[in-house]
Amino acid sequence: MNLILMGLPGAGKGTQADKIVDKYKIPHISTGDMFRAAIKNGTELGLKAKAFMDEGSLVPDEVTIGIVRERLSKEDCNNGFLLDGFPRTVAQATALDEMLNGLGRQINHVLYIKVPQEDLFKRLTGRWICPTCGSSYHEIYNPPKVQGKCDKDGSELIQRDDDKPETVGKRLEVNLEQVKPLVNFYESKGNLRNLDGNKEINEVFEDIDEVLIGSNQ
Ligand SMILES: [Zn+2]
Repeated sequence: MNLILMGLPGAGKGTQADKIVDKYKIPHISTGDMFRAAIKNGTELGLKAKAFMDEGSLVPDEVTIGIVRERLSKEDCNNGFLLDGFPRTVAQATALDEMLNGLGRQINHVLYIKVPQEDLFKRLTGRWICPTCGSSYHEIYNPPKVQGKCDKDGSELIQRDDDKPETVGKRLEVNLEQVKPLVNFYESKGNLRNLDGNKEINEVFEDIDEVLIGSNQ
């Protein structure tokens, strides 16, 4: 069960990743964790990646792919893996295919959690936090009892820069531009599974489950 999880920010990828890992006992491999581990363990590729990062440049694909290969060759990936945050480009996706071919494996499903952009916008801009106690609220999912005020101490709630409409709008645009060619790539290969991310969390997981159980038989 070799899986890739895709979705724009706010689509609920993290929640579904936890559920998949929990039920199917495969490792959740996010790019960030993978890089941190390679650097911490001081592997040759980890050190290469670090040198690029230290000088503020992008880590080249061949280094990234090498790190992915090292990670996917570990024993805990024998029954499969859930890749998250990689590949980011069609070039990386092609390199991933070639690398997996070399290991006698292939990607089985690309789980794409789809949520319309305007809904993601609402999800991502709804977050407000209390500057005094750090409590977090959401306009739709977890509103404070009095609008704009913390339930615990009455402080005026504030919005982090990351959650402001301008920032969120830009982030979604950039991510969508990045995701589109990948979606097309996997669609043409026939392993894209579109999932309606506007359903309840458990319903989305049932849909994922259906894809995975179907492939396990
Ligand atoms: Zn507070």
